[in-house]
Amino acid sequence: MSESPHEVLRSVFGYQAFRGHQQSVIEQVLSGGNALVLMPTGGGKSLCYQIPALIRPGTAVVVSPLIALMRDQVEALRHSGVKAACLNSSLPPDERRATEQALQAGELDLLYVAPERLLQGAFLARLSQLRIALFAIDEAHCVSQWGHDFRPEYMQLDCLKERFPGVPRIALTATADARTRREIEAQLFPDGVETWISSFDRPNIRYGVGSKQNARDQLLGFIRERHAGQSGIVYCLSRKKTESLAAWLADQGVNALPYHAGMLAEERQYHQRRFIQEEDLVIVATVAFGMGIDKPDVRFVAHMDLPRSIESYYQETGRAGRDGLPADAWMVYGLQDVVQIRQMLAQSTAPEAQKQAERRRLEALLGFCESTDCRRQTLLAYFGEDHAGQCGNCDNCLQPPDTRDVTEQARMLLSCVYRTGQRFGAHYVIDVLRGKDDERIRRNGHHRLSTFGIGEKLSRRQWFTVTRQLLARGYLEADAEGHGSLFLSEACRPLLRGEESLRVREDKASQRRSRSRATGEAAPAGWEALRRCRREQAEAEGVPPYVIFHDATLMEMLR
Ligand code: ADP
Ligand code: MG
Repeated sequence: MSESPHEVLRSVFGYQAFRGHQQSVIEQVLSGGNALVLMPTGGGKSLCYQIPALIRPGTAVVVSPLIALMRDQVEALRHSGVKAACLNSSLPPDERRATEQALQAGELDLLYVAPERLLQGAFLARLSQLRIALFAIDEAHCVSQWGHDFRPEYMQLDCLKERFPGVPRIALTATADARTRREIEAQLFPDGVETWISSFDRPNIRYGVGSKQNARDQLLGFIRERHAGQSGIVYCLSRKKTESLAAWLADQGVNALPYHAGMLAEERQYHQRRFIQEEDLVIVATVAFGMGIDKPDVRFVAHMDLPRSIESYYQETGRAGRDGLPADAWMVYGLQDVVQIRQMLAQSTAPEAQKQAERRRLEALLGFCESTDCRRQTLLAYFGEDHAGQCGNCDNCLQPPDTRDVTEQARMLLSCVYRTGQRFGAHYVIDVLRGKDDERIRRNGHHRLSTFGIGEKLSRRQWFTVTRQLLARGYLEADAEGHGSLFLSEACRPLLRGEESLRVREDKASQRRSRSRATGEAAPAGWEALRRCRREQAEAEGVPPYVIFHDATLMEMLR
């Protein structure tokens, strides 16, 4: 075939024009180069490899992690008259044989395979006898150990470089944080790659985060006031809750149905079909719902429980307003969510490193929830994008929250992180700040630091809020590979210099709680002794205590 990309776009897929970076990515792959494509969900990643697959001679091999995703894609392609097939464990033997024969005969334009299948020695050997147009690695964030979709087999895909020299590789994902991107580039493209990053901005979505009180009534009010008779998705953490909430909404006159992985397949498909077809259906679902669903007029996505991470939040809310018309991303959260997720993590049998990563993602998400800044700006900043100005449309822009100035505390914390050698996690640093009588602190000699015990006025919880804000803004970073040790980033300079301030949301409930708890917690036994000890030590060593806010050495280091 020697058709141009445009001709294929029109004749095969029936679209008039390319979107975003599609065309330049396609040109790169057509010319035999590697490509990494970061594009939000629904952005049109598939065409980036499907069109080169049809133009380059040979079969394109597409690595995909989910059988359901493969099946949908293959079905859609066949519908357009493309010779596509998949190989996976769910195929009946005769179908598998037919596909293998077609592959051998060079009749397939696209072959979708699971990574473990592709990596089988015999299969790779067979492929190297054939003409391969390209390798496409879909959902490429599965290679990242930092992400929660980590698939060890994805790591081994680096062998394609040696086994198939000259065959271009294209990797695609909707996860765009810088860390994941670096991991993909390093792991899949040691030979170099050109990367395309699309904007993750969704200007038509109005983001809002509220506190979880009378959540059901809040949700009902929100639907009645803003989305009566419209389509929406309500996400809940548990299957049971999707059923009870759907039933309750239906009682209140909302056209609502549940969806979760524990339902019978037919029932689940029936609910999904109704959601696609009807204009006013609210689906109450677990996260099992959504991947591969392409409904343009979803007017709202509500979260009744915290999602797992900012990435998940972005992906899930991204299902609203695909048609570009105004849509809402509505969420309520409470401390009970945090406790619940932490408990699930504690009970999980996942490797410790993975649990650590999950914990840090939770912290980042809480940072987003607690933020007093423009939501859209905060989200985009998380994905490494600068967005000029505030959106003027999110909850924080429309109704600026009550805040309290914690600039001084933020500087105390940064100083303490620095003073303790930038090798401890938040718990430890906060213990030092609050002057905890602790064996480890004493062993490290940190009870002698000038930052020891200066932060007793804030509760632990308030200190965590400050820490999360610093993390969320990138002033402080947490070591991902180790044990979450905090370290300072360049970005914190203006705050340390006093050129910038930090404010956090004034949380009435936490104030009350911290005050009542403070009476029991503020003066641990032996604290005065430690304090005295530290003062004496400091005097003996000639280090004046409390000299931290304008810490000369620290400033020197950062200059
Ligand atoms: P992603 O994999 O990035 O989530 P898809 O490749 O599944 O997105 O595409 C999402 C939707 O956009 C599909 O329905 C697809 O047919 C449509 N689409 C992709 N590119 C174009 C285009 N250039 N013009 C019109 N529609 C497109
Ligand atoms: Mg896709």
